Amino acid sequence: MNTLAEAPPKEPSEKDIITGLQEQVSASRLSLFLQCRLKFFFRYVLRLKKPKTPALHLGNSVHSVLKEWNKARWLLKPLTLKEAYESYQKAWTDENEGKVVWEPGEENDDKTTGWRLVDTYLRESHVPAMVKPEAVEVPVEVDLVNHGLPRLIGVLDLVQQRQVIDYKTSATTPNPEKVAHSHEIQTTSYAILYRHNTGNKEEGIQLHHLVKLKNPKVVITRLPSMSQQQETRLYRQMEAYLTGLQHEQFVPSPGMHCSSCEFFNECRKH
Ligand code: SF4
Repeated sequence: MNTLAEAPPKEPSEKDIITGLQEQVSASRLSLFLQCRLKFFFRYVLRLKKPKTPALHLGNSVHSVLKEWNKARWLLKPLTLKEAYESYQKAWTDENEGKVVWEPGEENDDKTTGWRLVDTYLRESHVPAMVKPEAVEVPVEVDLVNHGLPRLIGVLDLVQQRQVIDYKTSATTPNPEKVAHSHEIQTTSYAILYRHNTGNKEEGIQLHHLVKLKNPKVVITRLPSMSQQQETRLYRQMEAYLTGLQHEQFVPSPGMHCSSCEFFNECRKH
């Protein structure tokens, strides 16, 4: 009998997890670490699970149908609006999307809101539908060991005409300058990933916000290609991430963002 084969998989220790986090990083992990190291610790080191929020479920469902729509364009078999709607329905009910605790009536309202966002986006043709995308939902990575940094990983929602496009759902209309600033870690990461994986410089980066208003609207923020200063700034931020992990500096950073923190109770007791 092979007793080794029957042994349950060993849970990684906190040390192992921290070591793994030092080896590779994504834009969202880095952003969270710089926003609040204690929140990062709860989510990525302790791996505390929280129920998915309705807003996240809606955003994932919208994202899923846009991915299908772009994939179909990549295959040169564009979806009809009816097929897009069916894809949205499936995404919404997909068991793998996880459990959400809904208030009475909330799910139907959110489901309608999500579809209206997709419908608005597709009808307004914010990307040239007949131009074949270069990439759709593609996982990419770059080894930054030469810079003394971890591997950078990410998933590009859409690349078309050398524009890196990222989808977001939002409850409020974004301000272009604030959006450019608050998403800089993500947009700079995508530019680095794009350049390393294609050998080309991106023409620009676009953030497509689908805004959940009574009358849904789409706001597109067009950013220029990454500057040298932005690239350097990201590398410095990654250095701070590495140092913080090496010294296990998981300190709290209380502020306005705490109002939406899922670990608020854990933080108060910490
Ligand atoms: S409540 Fe605020 S300080 Fe505490 S973990 Fe969350 S974001 Fe950090």
